[in-house]
Amino acid sequence: MTTLADPVPGGRPGDLRRVAAVTAGLAARGVHGIVLAYVDTAGVTRVKTIPTARLEAAVAWGVGMSPVFDTFLADDSLVTTDVLGSPDGDLRLYPDLDRLVPLAGQPGWAWAPVDRITQEGERHPGCARTFLRRIVAGAADRHGLVLKAAVEIEWAVGLGSAPAGEFVPAASGPAYGAVRQIELSDYTAELLAALAAQGVDVDQVHPEYAAGQFEVSVGALDPVAAADRSLLVRQTIRAVAQRHRLRVSFAPAYLPEGVGNGGHLHLSCWRDGRNLHSGGEGRYGMTAEAESFAAGILAHLPGLTAVTAPSPASYLRLQPSQWAGVFTAWGRETREAALRMITGTAGRHEQDANMEVKPVDLAANPYLALGCVIAAGLDGVTAARTLPGEITGDPARYGPDEAAALGVRRLPRSLPQAVEEFRADRVLREALGPVLADAVAAVRLGEAAAVDGLTPVQVAAAYRWAY
Ligand code: GLU
Ligand code: MG
Repeated sequence: MTTLADPVPGGRPGDLRRVAAVTAGLAARGVHGIVLAYVDTAGVTRVKTIPTARLEAAVAWGVGMSPVFDTFLADDSLVTTDVLGSPDGDLRLYPDLDRLVPLAGQPGWAWAPVDRITQEGERHPGCARTFLRRIVAGAADRHGLVLKAAVEIEWAVGLGSAPAGEFVPAASGPAYGAVRQIELSDYTAELLAALAAQGVDVDQVHPEYAAGQFEVSVGALDPVAAADRSLLVRQTIRAVAQRHRLRVSFAPAYLPEGVGNGGHLHLSCWRDGRNLHSGGEGRYGMTAEAESFAAGILAHLPGLTAVTAPSPASYLRLQPSQWAGVFTAWGRETREAALRMITGTAGRHEQDANMEVKPVDLAANPYLALGCVIAAGLDGVTAARTLPGEITGDPARYGPDEAAALGVRRLPRSLPQAVEEFRADRVLREALGPVLADAVAAVRLGEAAAVDGLTPVQVAAAYRWAY
């Protein structure tokens, strides 16, 4: 479990007691430097690095970094809100020692995610990881719920030798094809070895639908750990690719048309060690609470899109009939509904039942995405919401009347539309708090303005290598 305690100036007591031993262990393994990572509002992972010898000081006092990145755009230009985007001030980055891991794909380096606090030792209201810790703590305190989550990672593998900015697939075989698996056999084998060495329990790796595309799915953890892990897995995928002269894109639409890269979220609610998505009286074994949680997510999906699909490129991906889940609907194992209920196979229901939220991509800050999706689910629990009827097949086939009768809506088709829905969603705004909520709206509108007038080809190119 991720520690839910905030960092404090001087260091968390437990961390201080063990940091000297951790540092010695890293030095003995030839680790010279540590990457300290967080994700900004736009979805870009930002880092500082320190020599291993500075770990003790970082655990005690943090590492300085400007808060200005909270309103950076993916192209490193800047927007502002009432409180963010100013050149003034500084924050302290505190590594989470429980998550510190030597990087198998980058010999000489270790990695840790950070929480950011103010120089006065207070929570930074723009820190996405702190936000998710707070939401997870609230689920436990107010609802007695423990959540498990996993983030699927899809990525496209391109040739490192391609002309600057261009994507040339490094494999040509078909979707789920043996050809593609063989073409990138050495790369994916080294990737599996690196992930295993870093303690990531991989469920599967497979060649995905689109050109040069792969997917990895990993085991579920508490939500903060799952978000941390999604960064670590991407760092590893990229680093190992580089060693094979490959270049990877996690962008929602690395090409302007066709299937893009998703970052589907898997979630389940537990109480007293029991999975609430299994063994209940409701449909497919859901308990009433699990159903309400799912119904809350479904109800808030239009506003959530501004958080889960945050890039102009996200809307090239969010097209019907491409398994991205662009309709507010749910179904059992239905890949065109935004919410896919997964019961697991006979004999594994209790362990495996969960739900998948599909209109999520890897431009999304995983801490914000998980925190907002969970807040939406908890709102459903508070309101004792129930799910509408399930759907089967592709909702794209419904005419307007049929869709309206079933309560099936197309999710926002553009970033400005998503921001409009987000602004109208009080539950999401209140969960984030005013500072983060304003940052989300300002950064999204900034991204939309930055691509105004660009063609899909240009939008895909603009974000291809950003995330
Ligand atoms: N690549 C699809 C997406 O954009 C998802 C394919 C799948 O269901 O795994 O989300
Ligand atoms: Mg997939």
